Amino acid sequence: MMSTNSLVRHLPAVLFGDLSLHHLKELLSSHIHDLHLSRHRAGTIINRVRLISGCFAFLNLLWVLVDYWVFPIDVWNNLLLMRLAVVAVFIALAWPWQLPKRLSVAFLLLLTMLLNPLLFYLFSQSLFGDQQLYGWAAISVMLYASLPFIVMAGLSVFPLTVVESLLLVLPVVLSLLLGLQLADNFSWEGLLPTLWLMLLVAGVYIISGMIQIHYMIVIVNKVSLDALTGAFTRRSGEEILDLYFHISNRHEKPFAVAFIDLDHFKQINDIYGHDEGDKALRQACANLQQLLRSGDIVIRWGGEEFILLLNGSDIAGAQKVVERITQNWLGKRPDGTALTASMGIAERVNDKAEDWPDLIELADQRMYQAKQSGRARCVFAEDLVVS
Ligand code: GH3
Ligand code: MG
Ligand code: MG
Repeated sequence: MMSTNSLVRHLPAVLFGDLSLHHLKELLSSHIHDLHLSRHRAGTIINRVRLISGCFAFLNLLWVLVDYWVFPIDVWNNLLLMRLAVVAVFIALAWPWQLPKRLSVAFLLLLTMLLNPLLFYLFSQSLFGDQQLYGWAAISVMLYASLPFIVMAGLSVFPLTVVESLLLVLPVVLSLLLGLQLADNFSWEGLLPTLWLMLLVAGVYIISGMIQIHYMIVIVNKVSLDALTGAFTRRSGEEILDLYFHISNRHEKPFAVAFIDLDHFKQINDIYGHDEGDKALRQACANLQQLLRSGDIVIRWGGEEFILLLNGSDIAGAQKVVERITQNWLGKRPDGTALTASMGIAERVNDKAEDWPDLIELADQRMYQAKQSGRARCVFAEDLVVS
């Protein structure tokens, strides 16, 4: 039998498989998500908002006919105007505008899509509150009353963190309560089962959002992170490089890159074997990650070559990073000596780089100069060397 202690210890594994604590934090809130994941998530949310809005624009138009069939003409008239406004907003959301893949944009669209039917729900509840309706009209009114539940269930197709899901539950629950008041349908006895049902739907929606974001993290990491070192792969790194370069250009901010090539790395493989070489590479990358600020990026450019993206750093900032690296270098070689590297730095403003390949080319040339002039050093420009 499992003791209580070991049950508590194993509970996360039982519930979430092999998820680490870091992964669990990523499911809770987005503040530790990396740029790649955020861009991918923003793109997915924007696409799904478009798809759902397109479907709902069409369904809302069809529903005009149903309303015509079930409601008296004065009620239909009132509903028609509001419905057309809802359709217009859905069409605007579904329209294939060129939008930046940013989470702020994605959430603005998502919130608009959420509030659109909720406002219509509130309007319909205030309209039906004054009416005595029977037969199909009364059944239709009940369908209208279930709109907040439909909206909440619809949210379950989005990859959302727990915090985001909870924030989106708020407007739905508030409009449900307000709707009950407006329809003169509010009673404390009736409220409990309604809230209970809402809680169940919200629970399913929050879990569904977590599952989706979990799969997204696994897939994005598999595609964008190097399996051996955990650094960004060259392909995904180039995307980030492109983005950082353009942001720095647009905001006229500095942006430095460091080209790093480990010294005499082949010797480690030749003398101590490939496994020791792999270990040294993992260790070098972990050390680099530790020395950087959040927002800075490590890319595995080639076998034992790395590129650092020092976001917002000028030459003086890059110099500080290099000083931190040269203090203890990148770990130890199997014989106990320091694992050194040759480095080249280039900075967008200072070096007047036209585009990011220009910047990388310059940093590569300077790394080569560092190699040529004796290794274990960094070249910033022809006259500035740190070793
Ligand atoms: P230099 O100081 O001139 O850079 O010498 P070097 O030996 O580091 O450079 P060279 O380009 O001759 O060799 C790079 C070595 O890196 C050769 C290759 O076997 C090794 N390497 C590249 N990728 C990996 C890897 O994933 N694992 C291991 N263990 N070794 C790798
Ligand atoms: Mg090399
Ligand atoms: Mg090398």
